[in-house]
Amino acid sequence: PERLLEVRDLHVEFRTREGVAKAVNGVSLDVAEGETLAVLGESGSGKSVTAQAVMGILDTPPGRVTGGRILFEGRDLLALREEERRSVRGARMAMIFQDALSALNPVLSVGYQLGEMFRVHRGSSRKEARERAVELMERVRIPAARTRVDDYPHQFSGGMRQRIMIAMALALEPRLIIADEPTTALDVTVQAQVMELLADLQREFRMGLILITHDLGVVADVADEIVVMYAGRVVESAPVRELYRAPAHPYTKGLLDSIPRLDQKGQQLDAVKGLPPSLLRIPPGCGFHPRCPVARPLCHADEPPLYEVGRGRASACHFWEELLDAE
Ligand code: SF4
Ligand code: MG
Repeated sequence: PERLLEVRDLHVEFRTREGVAKAVNGVSLDVAEGETLAVLGESGSGKSVTAQAVMGILDTPPGRVTGGRILFEGRDLLALREEERRSVRGARMAMIFQDALSALNPVLSVGYQLGEMFRVHRGSSRKEARERAVELMERVRIPAARTRVDDYPHQFSGGMRQRIMIAMALALEPRLIIADEPTTALDVTVQAQVMELLADLQREFRMGLILITHDLGVVADVADEIVVMYAGRVVESAPVRELYRAPAHPYTKGLLDSIPRLDQKGQQLDAVKGLPPSLLRIPPGCGFHPRCPVARPLCHADEPPLYEVGRGRASACHFWEELLDAE
C-alpha cells in the first residue's frame, strides 16, 4: 500500500511559566493508505500533541515544532505556508474530536453545518449542499436523515452527534482521518457502534486512519498497527496482533494486564501504578523507570533507543529480549 503519512523524529515543545515542557521527543510513525494506526498513551503522553502537529492546529505559541519532518502525500507539511496548510487540512486530512457538542455550533442546524463544507470548499448551491448533507447523514447511518437534517446538535444523542462529526470529517473525502478519543465520551454500547462505523467507512474509502486512545481495549478489532507513547516518546510499535500476543515493553505489558477480562467484569486490574512524569522534568535514563516493575540500575542512567525487536516491531526497553522470551 502507498505510504500516506511519514512523521520523522518529531519534537514539540511548550513554553510554560515553569519552563519548557517537552511534549513530543523524537516521535516517528507511518500510516499507509487503507491502514489504521492506533496511537495509545495516557493523558500527557504526547499523543494529542503529535496529532495536532500533523493537522497543523498546534496552539502556537505556546507550542512549537522544534524538530523533525511531517511528510504527507509526499509533501513536507512543515514547509507549507499557512494557507496551503489550511487547504490540505480541509480537503486531504480531517480530524474527529472527542467532544462533538463543543465542536458543533449549537445555533446552526446539523444540515447547515454539514452543507457548509460543500458551499465553502466546493461552491455548491444551498439546495445542493443540503442534499449532500442528507447523503452524508445516511452514510453515517443516522436514521430518518431526511427528516432530521434541519435539527440542531442538542436534539441528537451523544452517539448520533459523534456520527455527525464523522460525517463532517468525511465530507470532502480526505485521505487521512485523525480521530482523537472519538468514543471516550460515549457509553460502552454506543462506543462499539461508533467505532464499528468508523472502521467500516475507513475500509470503504481506503483512508488512512489514526486512532488516538488511552484504551487498549478499543483498538484490538479495528487497528492494524499500534504505537505506544510514554512521556512524549514511542516506547513500542508493532502490528496489533503481535503486541497483544507478546508485548515487548513493560509499560505495554502493564496496560494489557489492566484490561478488564470478561469473567472479571467491572474490575480494574493491575493498572500501571503511579503517574506519568511531568514533561518539564522527564526522568533521566528510561523515562518509565520510576514506574517500571523490572527497572535496574542501568535504566536510571541510560536512555534506551528504540530497538528493532522483530519484523516491523520496535521497543524502547533495554530488556525487551527477556520480555519476549518470557511469553
Ligand atoms: Fe523498565 Fe528499564 Fe525497560 Fe525502562 S529500560 S522499561 S526501566 S526495564
Ligand atoms: Mg488528549
